[in-house]
Amino acid sequence: MRHPLVEMACSKYYHKSHINEPLIIGKAISLEEKGFKENADKFVRNIEKYPHAFVLACLMDSGVDADAAWSIPYRACKELGTFEISDLYKIKEHQYIGMFSGEKKWHRYPIIKAKVFHDAVHKIVETKLMNGDASRIWADKPGSYDVVMRFIDFNGCGFKIANMASNILFRYFGVEFSDYSFIDIAPDVHTMRVFQRLGLTPYVKDTEIARIYTIVRARELNPEFPGLVDGLCWEVGREFCRPGKPKCENCPLGTFCEKVILEEINVWR
Ligand code: SF4
Repeated sequence: MRHPLVEMACSKYYHKSHINEPLIIGKAISLEEKGFKENADKFVRNIEKYPHAFVLACLMDSGVDADAAWSIPYRACKELGTFEISDLYKIKEHQYIGMFSGEKKWHRYPIIKAKVFHDAVHKIVETKLMNGDASRIWADKPGSYDVVMRFIDFNGCGFKIANMASNILFRYFGVEFSDYSFIDIAPDVHTMRVFQRLGLTPYVKDTEIARIYTIVRARELNPEFPGLVDGLCWEVGREFCRPGKPKCENCPLGTFCEKVILEEINVWR
């Protein structure tokens, strides 16, 4: 019998389940910002035209608010007046650094991420597999191992981004894989906290150890697709299972959660 967390994830986070959901969702403080976010979302969702926008957005998604990261391809397009990969390829690294580091910085780490952006464009153009077309990363129903490893091969892409990207392709873009067993959970503060409070993993102070516990437990729960529970746990962590005051009474996981809430050693906020 499957764990109820897996059952719930199967009913809400399946192939194409988020096909009409925006990727950039945060609150906007003005109409102008709202319009910008909507345009940035449409832009990064258009993987038929600009598959590299999706890859580049994923690579930006660390150390900063997700909306800020996912808006960077659209910012670059507005700045350059083009987003054709052949045009991006002509831009020098120092020019990207200048764009990322302007009056309003595009990222908390503008120099590092400008280099990641530049290197990714070069990799997309220069590698035999892609030859300028980033969609070849996920074309023709590949194995999940291949897709995850192709993402990890980009400068600046770690375990978390590679698995998150594969999971998003499955849910938000309807990309099919020949198997899903190498798409792991992408542990962050929310998913780790939820796993602990559900009673699935022990509380430990070392964040790296906690990550490993979460990854291994998710594999045990659903070996066919360990990352399936990722979206559900992330959303519950953000909306209900807050570090300070969890909203257990309204939480969708409340019926089977062990509510192991040990704030004194919960170091991730
Ligand atoms: S029931 Fe409470 S402790 Fe358990 S996941 Fe939900 S909010 Fe967190």
